[in-house]
Amino acid sequence: MAKLDDSVKYLKGVGPKRAELFEKLGINTVRDLIYHLPRSYMDFTSPTAIASAVLDEVNVVEAEVVKKERPAMIRKGMTLYKLLVTDGSDDMNVTIFNSQYLFDSVKVGEKYIFCGKVTGNLTRREMSSPTVQKSSSGDRIQPIYPLTAGLTQNILRSCVKSALSAVTQAEVETLPNDILKKYSLMPESEALVKIHFPKEREDVFPARRRLSFDELLTLRLGMMRLRERVRSLTAYSMKKVDMSGFTSALPFKLTGAQSRAVSECMADMEKSAPMNRLILGDVGSGKTAVAAACCYIAAKNGAQAVLMAPTEILALQHYDSLRTFLEPSGLRVGLLTGSLTKKKKSEVSEAASRGEYDVIVGTHAVFQESAGYERLGLVITDEQHRFGVAQRTALAKKGNNPHRLVMSATPIPRTLALMIYGELDISVLDELPAGRAKTETYAVTGKLRSRACAFVRKELDRKGQAYVVCPAVEEGTADIKNVTDYAKELERGEFSGYRIGVLHGQLPAAKKEEVMRRFKDGELDVLVCTTVVEVGVDVPNASVMMVENADRFGLSQLHQLRGRVGRGSRNSYCILITDNVSEESRKRLKILSSTSDGFEISEADLELRGPGDFFGSAQHGLPPLKIADLAADAELVKLAQDAAELLNERFQLSECDSLRKRVEALFARGEW
Ligand code: ADP
Ligand code: MG
Repeated sequence: MAKLDDSVKYLKGVGPKRAELFEKLGINTVRDLIYHLPRSYMDFTSPTAIASAVLDEVNVVEAEVVKKERPAMIRKGMTLYKLLVTDGSDDMNVTIFNSQYLFDSVKVGEKYIFCGKVTGNLTRREMSSPTVQKSSSGDRIQPIYPLTAGLTQNILRSCVKSALSAVTQAEVETLPNDILKKYSLMPESEALVKIHFPKEREDVFPARRRLSFDELLTLRLGMMRLRERVRSLTAYSMKKVDMSGFTSALPFKLTGAQSRAVSECMADMEKSAPMNRLILGDVGSGKTAVAAACCYIAAKNGAQAVLMAPTEILALQHYDSLRTFLEPSGLRVGLLTGSLTKKKKSEVSEAASRGEYDVIVGTHAVFQESAGYERLGLVITDEQHRFGVAQRTALAKKGNNPHRLVMSATPIPRTLALMIYGELDISVLDELPAGRAKTETYAVTGKLRSRACAFVRKELDRKGQAYVVCPAVEEGTADIKNVTDYAKELERGEFSGYRIGVLHGQLPAAKKEEVMRRFKDGELDVLVCTTVVEVGVDVPNASVMMVENADRFGLSQLHQLRGRVGRGSRNSYCILITDNVSEESRKRLKILSSTSDGFEISEADLELRGPGDFFGSAQHGLPPLKIADLAADAELVKLAQDAAELLNERFQLSECDSLRKRVEALFARGEW
């Protein structure tokens, strides 16, 4: 018998040499090995007849060996071994390269399963370098594992087998019985056997379900622990503030959702534990005003607040907004970004540390270098999903446990938010400010581009402004628009006579800032840009957006982009141009034209593309999930969250020992 935490090297069939190779796969212990899950399977359960094999594709064929040819050495180190096989429907030539061992083990007159690509023509079939397995051997479905040089599938299979038979069922199980029952989960040991060595395809599904459930549960429990840890800290507890000074200086009346969020924040900040709250709101729902209200509460309590944005452009814009919202009530707002001169930066920093600013707005990077505030009481971060959980918690450690407010960039389904922002409390802004003009969205092909441009010109002539969004900065291919060339093309052609600006992430910060300012001040009519405008840019007069190669963007991303127009009282338009007329592309873009509800869109996006894509490549900042899929397993996510609530109370009990170990292991890996 082996213990789960024993080194793999003591397992039968492993030994020190293989253990070293296993290490490259991140497998050190017996536990690691049994949770090294197959990435796919080879399914030999329903072989194809040779006569109906699909040419140029991988086929599984069950056939009898009729003849073994004499090996032919075609050059040094390359020997061909040929077999002729038949399954009654037809004959097939099988070629094996260099593997004398395999060739010798095959016997004329016996049946084997061959799996490989079939080539040839109507009269002659061939298969090269197939995997070969005896017909009578039991495993008709074989796991395919991630490998490393020096290991083969067969070695891994036999090592996993020996690991599985070396551990006891009781040791493997991480969940109490009542939980298994309540959520109809199979025992963990059974799930492991079935996921590694399914007897039939149908075995895999419930096994996967059980193991995914475990993973989601572990993640959720871990997040809940993080949250509790923060709750045990002591923060500067604030006094209730009369908000009338703030609201009367605002150029608008807060929506019901905004007021609710502000009250929730105020209640949090009155507590002795730090606030840890996420404002989850659709594009244009007015998150900034909520942030400003929190700054006001902090300032009235004699504390300083910082607001961090992911980009310079956003920092500047928040700076402008906060000044508008807060200066009338006498608050002092400062700006700290990377593009300021060194001298200016240290001036602002020093003034902040002397307490001369109530609020400092800036970019994330800048705050990381300069720490010293006189009485930091509130840290607000915008568009946070770009930072991971680990980064967020690191930030929380700065200063004297300041209250924390996180503003989401994207409306995401609540279940997903609970996973991704699981260590935070959530306020949802589910109401847009009234009087918002509508944005109509059309998807068209490139054939209609000049009509679209004529439409844009009409808006410009009515004193509107336009965004033209392209997927690339300069490279691109013939059919992918890039900002640099396209701006020139438009300047000479469709938009000649109009004032055109170019904006993308590779411009120097000062240049970006200037272009943005000119667009905002109405000195530019058209802004040709990349998705740098995606996050939060606010130019109320912009009323039309044209997106090139729209199919290259995620739905949530397009929704975010589209949110750049329709921010004022002008009726607004978003024209999505794509030459991709596939069913899927049409379906996706149709969702956008049919709804403007960001939560609905993100749900659809999640279903269509998965959370990885949804957040840009691997940007969700979670520990990597091995088996669960946040998008595909939405129902399971809910169940796991439910179970986490139940188990959280019992977490310290001995029945949760192994679960606790797993939670600790997941979060110990860090670096996500
Ligand atoms: P987001 O939630 O996308 O960050 P912003 O905070 O940028 O949204 O707000 C979008 C626009 O709506 C801004 O121009 C802001 O001034 C305006 N706004 C915010 N709250 C209200 C409100 N209650 N009534 C009217 N306009 C509002
Ligand atoms: Mg915003």
